[in-house]
Amino acid sequence: MAETLFSRIIRREIPAQIVHEDEHVVGFRDINPQAPTHVLFVPRQAIATLNDLVAADAELIGRLVLAATAYAKSQQLADDGYRLVMNCNRHGGQTVFHLHFHILPLKEGVDLRPHTGQMADHSILAAQALA
Ligand code: AMP
Repeated sequence: MAETLFSRIIRREIPAQIVHEDEHVVGFRDINPQAPTHVLFVPRQAIATLNDLVAADAELIGRLVLAATAYAKSQQLADDGYRLVMNCNRHGGQTVFHLHFHILPLKEGVDLRPHTGQMADHSILAAQALA
């Protein structure tokens, strides 16, 4: 598959606010947050979409979910609640073709900003990540 900017974030070639790192999974803040704490959890292994998962990925997906939920609990998001969202392909709203979960915390009276489904230019995103 074609490499995405997430592989470059994982290799720390592009700046990002990394919130979690282990042997299999990396978590970092979304550059266009839909909520005050909007983070993405990605496998180090580059898998393009949900459609590309195979049986051998079962453990990896389990690790991804567990890392994301552990992070949500550590940030006290668990009691109020959150969404763990994975968009698949163009009409599913996927813009970066490296599998990832969005953690989207929900609080009373605070609406999620819309997911535009549009990617800004990579150089603009990289510059924003530095800010
Ligand atoms: P999706 O549209 O579901 O594929 O989600 C991709 C997400 O990646 C979007 O919410 C973007 O805001 C986010 N994103 C794109 N570039 C970066 C970046 N350089 N650092 C952090 N998040 C990014």
